Amino acid sequence: MSKKRELLPVRRRDNLVVAGRCSICHRPFESSLAIPQVASRQIVSDFDVHTCDEDANQAAARVVRESTDKV
Ligand SMILES: [Zn+2]
Repeated sequence: MSKKRELLPVRRRDNLVVAGRCSICHRPFESSLAIPQVASRQIVSDFDVHTCDEDANQAAARVVRESTDKV
């Protein structure tokens, strides 16, 4: 699989993504930090270092529906 992975925004605050999900493995990324700038940076760096699990195929259909619903 050479599909490019992206961090899909789930929740934003002040135009920053404070909760997101991987477009490949659908792993959720959240931060409990109160400051959006810091939370956003933490989420992006967590996303950058994570390893995708390829066994999330059931989740895929659900997430695709959610994201098309939103955009
Ligand atoms: Zn992933």
